[in-house]
Amino acid sequence: MAKSSNKESYDKIFSKLKEHHKWFSNSIPLIASENIPSPAVREAIISDFGNRYAEGWPGERVYAGCVYIDDVEFECMKLAKKLYKAKFADVRPVSGVVANLAIYSAFSNPGDIMLAPSIPAGGHISHGKKEHSGTAGLVHGLEIEFYPFNAEEMTIDVDKTKAKVKELEKNGRLPKIAMFGGSLFLFPHPVKELANFLKSYDIHINYDAAHVAGLIAGGKFQDPLREGADTMTMSTHKTLFGPQGGLVLGSKEHEEKIKKAMFPGLTSSHHIHHMAGKAIAFAEALEFGKDYASQILKNAKAFGEALSDFGFKVLGESRGFTQSHQIAVNVLDYSDGGKVEAELEKANIIVNRQLIPGDIKAGRNYFHPGGIRLGVSEITRIGMKQKEMKEIAAFIKEIVIEKKDPKKILPKIKAFRKDYQKVQYCFDKKLGAYEYVKLR
Ligand SMILES: *Cc1c(COP(=O)(O)O)cnc(C)c1O
Repeated sequence: MAKSSNKESYDKIFSKLKEHHKWFSNSIPLIASENIPSPAVREAIISDFGNRYAEGWPGERVYAGCVYIDDVEFECMKLAKKLYKAKFADVRPVSGVVANLAIYSAFSNPGDIMLAPSIPAGGHISHGKKEHSGTAGLVHGLEIEFYPFNAEEMTIDVDKTKAKVKELEKNGRLPKIAMFGGSLFLFPHPVKELANFLKSYDIHINYDAAHVAGLIAGGKFQDPLREGADTMTMSTHKTLFGPQGGLVLGSKEHEEKIKKAMFPGLTSSHHIHHMAGKAIAFAEALEFGKDYASQILKNAKAFGEALSDFGFKVLGESRGFTQSHQIAVNVLDYSDGGKVEAELEKANIIVNRQLIPGDIKAGRNYFHPGGIRLGVSEITRIGMKQKEMKEIAAFIKEIVIEKKDPKKILPKIKAFRKDYQKVQYCFDKKLGAYEYVKLR
């Protein structure tokens, strides 16, 4: 009997999943917002927790059946608080965007003003204006004012920010929230330098650690909650190597407002299997996070230096290129970020194009921006060190500067990649990092 078209679709999906796994096991994954979770996290997210509801707060659920879920969620909160030295943790946000929405909902009203980095200055679309379909503007009705940005130093300008806030106050537009953190994020933001000033105006300070959560956990970036941030939001899957999800941290005084915003405001199911996966990742970060984060910083520096030595214009040169997991490269001497991204993909080097300071003024857009962004989190997690960074920089040079055919470089990349197939910095390493798990 001929196969039904339904069964054909069903089979096709599995074959695409398998091809994807194989492709990534042969690739150099440099997307700065991505990482590879441990086999333990993968085990947690295929558990039955993923089929359950646990609305509300552990111990005060809306449904029965949550005995073990509650135990895990209490443990998850305990680990999150220990990892980030916070008094309060809400582990329910299903993503970083939802975590940010919890802050907007808890600490502002529609029509209020938020101070945030613009996108070419590293901001994330969840901090963005309504006219750009940014979450803050579109979903919560916030009006956005951008921080003045120093493109040479690649960070927020402290003095100009103070002047801007004073000016905004004069015009009756004092911000309710100051959002720090970003997606293109090479150097710490001046939280310490601005916190007292912002607090003197009663501005709520949130630090969006989506990208740098794993570095903060390892003690290798700034420590926002000690520098004056009231709350901290994050994704749990970027430098932090958990399952996809979000987290909000704060002090006791913020607890009630955030809890209400999260439920019933922003979640019904909070994806409990991912909550369990977060707990596992927090335990791994507590145990292995320092070594992991310090290797990330060494790798990112080595990568930036190698690219610069090959002639690339690496941003943040005056400050040593980076103090995070990211490198940003201006590729306008060769083509543009979009074209470079596509060429590298043909050689299994996965990067993303990036708007960089100056792009919008020059009329460049998101499809053909001036830069690319490179992240070393995932390649660090699978065991690569400084020497491998130099090799990857050389592959990129061959394709982008020397314009060699990516297909000719591909076999070298596959061979280079063979030795890095296990997740490091975790308790259990049995399953291969990119191994496909068949349950049928
Ligand atoms: C990625 C990112 C987010 C969004 O996180 P999701 O988990 O994808 O929803 C929020 N803020 C910043 C700064 C980010 O880079």
